[in-house]
Formats: sequence, structure tokens, C-alpha cells
Amino acid sequence: MPLFVCAGCSMRIERSMEAYWRNKGKLLCSTCRDRQEMPKKTPDDDRSKGSSGFRVNSNKNGRQQWE
Ligand SMILES: [Zn+2]
Repeated sequence: MPLFVCAGCSMRIERSMEAYWRNKGKLLCSTCRDRQEMPKKTPDDDRSKGSSGFRVNSNKNGRQQWE
């Protein structure tokens, strides 16, 4: 299968040409697709409740990537 670049994180992903045309050239890796389907609920949110400092940092980074 040919290699494409993920539209969300620019990671290289292997997809079929069929998937490429179906999505009009905009392909997402599995990670970005998961985020798109449920943007507010991430597993990291639950795990990092113990350390507030780390949680603030990861949230900030997440938002920057989204926008
Ligand atoms: Zn991606």
C-alpha cells in the first residue's frame, strides 16, 4: 500500500488508494481519528488526575495541536 501523510499530525501512514479517494485526499492516522471521534474524552485525562502539574501541560499541548 502507498504511504500518505496524516492530515492531523503529519505522521506517515499506510493506506489504500480506495481510502485515499474516499476521504478526498485527507487521511488521518488511527490516533487522530480516535481524537476526532471523541475529542473531549481522552484516556490521559483520567490517568493524570493525581499530578495536576503534568495535566495542565498535557492539556495545553493537546489544544495547540487541535488548533
Ligand atoms: Zn495523525
